[in-house]
Amino acid sequence: MKDNKLDSILPVDEEGYYGDFGGAFIPEILHSNVERLKEAFARYADDAEFNAEYERLLADYVGRPTPLYHARRLSEHYGTNIYLKREDLNHTGAHKINNAIASVLLAMRMGKTRIIAETGAGQHGVAVATVCALMGLKCVIYMGATDVARQMPNVERIRMLGAEVHPVESGNKTLKDATNEAIRDWCSNPEDTFYVIGSTVGPHPYPLMVARFQSVISREIRKQVKDLTGRDLPDYVVACIGGGSNAAGAFYHFIDEPSVKLIAAEAAGLGIDSGKTAATMKLGSVGIIHGSKTLVMQTPDGQITEPYSISAGLDYPGVGPLHAYLAESGRSEVIAVTDKEALDAAFRLTRTEGIIPALESAHALAVLDRKQFGKDDIVVVNVSGRGDKDMMTYISRLNQSNI
Ligand SMILES: *Cc1c(COP(=O)(O)O)cnc(C)c1O
Repeated sequence: MKDNKLDSILPVDEEGYYGDFGGAFIPEILHSNVERLKEAFARYADDAEFNAEYERLLADYVGRPTPLYHARRLSEHYGTNIYLKREDLNHTGAHKINNAIASVLLAMRMGKTRIIAETGAGQHGVAVATVCALMGLKCVIYMGATDVARQMPNVERIRMLGAEVHPVESGNKTLKDATNEAIRDWCSNPEDTFYVIGSTVGPHPYPLMVARFQSVISREIRKQVKDLTGRDLPDYVVACIGGGSNAAGAFYHFIDEPSVKLIAAEAAGLGIDSGKTAATMKLGSVGIIHGSKTLVMQTPDGQITEPYSISAGLDYPGVGPLHAYLAESGRSEVIAVTDKEALDAAFRLTRTEGIIPALESAHALAVLDRKQFGKDDIVVVNVSGRGDKDMMTYISRLNQSNI
């Protein structure tokens, strides 16, 4: 990494490297586009008027700050002090709206009139389509044909919001293929189109931008821990990782506080040795995916391996370069959580606290079963989203085992 840090907290240099990870591996045709994006982000990231508009929308439209909730019965069960950061209570049901709003505000400052995005389970697509409806912008969402079929309620929400859903028929017809197609669209429409990426992935400056736009999560946690416990810092912050945006947001203001332990829960699927897994940080090797050098699940000759997880939001064969760096440097601890562990954790939270979490968030909650916490520890778990979209999976689990 070069000495020149681009962010007051994140260990990122001017080329977008986090240690050996990151950068911008993009086709020539996108160079000027990415340059203009970097300039716009540098100009507006700390702009008072931009941030005032962003914060007003977070407060009045999204419903922030989200509560930091002391989960009393869950804390008793695990013999520690558990606080849940309730991103599930955001408008549209997950953290993704935080980034969608800031990204679309930036697009408007840049004079863009057409917004595109990729989506897997549909949560990012819904968030972007929502903000485009709010702002009166044209919106196209790329989604793998397989995902279109299995995530129908979100597809219909996107259409009702006035956006166009573009099913992608190439490859495995899932998130990776939708992302390729969105990049292709951006190459063909560099003038009027802004590409809103839904996680801390993609070429620089996206991982930095998305982390910054999600950092409101840890800014609130810090203040709320102080207000609720009188302590300056929690002992642990736990979050699930697909591409890494909710974790980046939950970790951000604690990254340079070494006493705060950061735990990243990735999806082990049926088990990390099963061949049906999305445990990228445990199993991946250095490669390039969607414009970024990072850990990638791949064969020895560099073919990307198809990932698997019960949770569509964690079903990605790469991971954001920030998280590859935090894991490799030992700053974060990575725990790979199986489908079954996540399901058990979702039912435990539901039945002890009356909160049905997203399957993605259930992976973070499952960490409570894997680690022993002290009775005075303060453990913050980021509940990235709510479980409405996962009811079919939860119902089939209920019917199978009578729990
Ligand atoms: C999309 C999604 C995730 C995974 O994405 P990250 O960028 O890793 O946060 C996690 N939880 C929910 C609820 C999601 O919708």
